[in-house]
Amino acid sequence: MSRRSGLDVVVIGAGVVGAATALTLAAAGLRVGIVEAHEPAPWRADAPDLRVYAFAPDSSALLERLRLWHDIRGARTQPYRNMRVWDAAGGGELRFDADAVGREALGHIVEHGLLVDRLWQRVRADARIEVHCPDKLLALEQDETGVSLALQGGARLHARFALGADGAVSRVRDQLGIESDAHDYGQRGVVAYVSTELPHEQTAWQRFLPSGPLAFLPCADGRSSIVWTLSNDEAERVLALPDDGFCRELTRAFDARLGDVLEVSARAAFPLRRQLAKTMLLGRVALVGDAAHAVHPLAGQGVNLGLRDVSALDDSVREALQRGIDPFSPHRMQRWARARYSENAMAAYGFEAINRVFSNDALLPTLLRGHALGIAGRLPPLTRFLWKRAAGV
Ligand SMILES: Cc1cc2nc3c(=O)[nH]c(=O)nc-3n(C[C@H](O)[C@H](O)[C@H](O)COP(=O)(O)OP(=O)(O)OC[C@H]3O[C@@H](n4cnc5c(N)ncnc54)[C@H](O)[C@@H]3O)c2cc1C
Repeated sequence: MSRRSGLDVVVIGAGVVGAATALTLAAAGLRVGIVEAHEPAPWRADAPDLRVYAFAPDSSALLERLRLWHDIRGARTQPYRNMRVWDAAGGGELRFDADAVGREALGHIVEHGLLVDRLWQRVRADARIEVHCPDKLLALEQDETGVSLALQGGARLHARFALGADGAVSRVRDQLGIESDAHDYGQRGVVAYVSTELPHEQTAWQRFLPSGPLAFLPCADGRSSIVWTLSNDEAERVLALPDDGFCRELTRAFDARLGDVLEVSARAAFPLRRQLAKTMLLGRVALVGDAAHAVHPLAGQGVNLGLRDVSALDDSVREALQRGIDPFSPHRMQRWARARYSENAMAAYGFEAINRVFSNDALLPTLLRGHALGIAGRLPPLTRFLWKRAAGV
């Protein structure tokens, strides 16, 4: 294979995870190429993005290291100080409070569009990053020294290593022939902004219903962003309801915990699937983010897991560069891939088990889960432990 373009790494796909990957590797001193299919739309403050994330502290720490978090936080984010999790069938409540874990906030609610916008402003300004956008990966070949990529626009790129960050329907994963362990939940996450009679109290709320979890996430403008897990048919039905009917059903589903739901924005729904690539590494190509693992959104960990792939890679690359050794040596990358696979698999199957136990109105699971939440809620060391796992701290 001929070596031509002098790139160290090519990142295919530059959503939140891919763009963060490119920036961290460039900050470590590597020459990075990006291939992204779609020109990112600029974020607009007057048009809130329906896709929002409960951003964990370690995700904001990664953006802090890239000196981006301050700007993102100032543009529009909402810290959440508390979490409340309870089951529609009764029993106890799981409570997490920032004070109890000695922090200002448990995390921040951030719009996807704002993250992409700020990451891309930095990508465009970084002289170490070569951008191919809009363009698409068509084919990929590799040997023991590097990777060669053919793009739809006709360009050919060569690099020592490549990273597939091209989302759940990953062309990179396909090209490598990596299979996924996949399960379609037959559910969709209905998302919207709602205003409620009572203030959100800077609290992330989650009620488990037999149909699946319903989350209300607090937003900076006083509204809440909802993620309502429903079967495909039910999701279609509620999407088609008139606003007042939707608000009434949502109030009921949420047990009026924030009083009546008064108004709802435009709505959207996304399909829920567990999909775990059987390996995150093949030769000189690795997968990160949703290309490697798509998980149930009940714990709000999708994007956080992807950014943990990036942080771990960043640590490994920097350590190798400091020691003057190949940051992408097979041994080093295998260690990264094994560690990340095991955390991602635990999350994917763990969320699935929780979803199974809670999205269920059989008698035994119903009796057990209320007690389980009640017991967990009464054990502060356990809630602290659970929160630390979710927060990556
Ligand atoms: C409506 C919606 C709501 C969601 N809500 C939540 C939530 O509340 N909480 C949560 O944790 N997760 C949520 N998710 C999931 C979350 O968005 C993903 O976990 C996260 O975006 C994964 O980031 P990523 O960068 O790995 O992949 P993506 O965001 O999918 O980015 C992949 C990028 O690759 C590009 N691409 C694809 N193919 C190619 C190719 N061949 N060549 C070049 N580029 C390519 C795409 O254009 C895209 O920019 C939601 C998803 C959707 C759709």
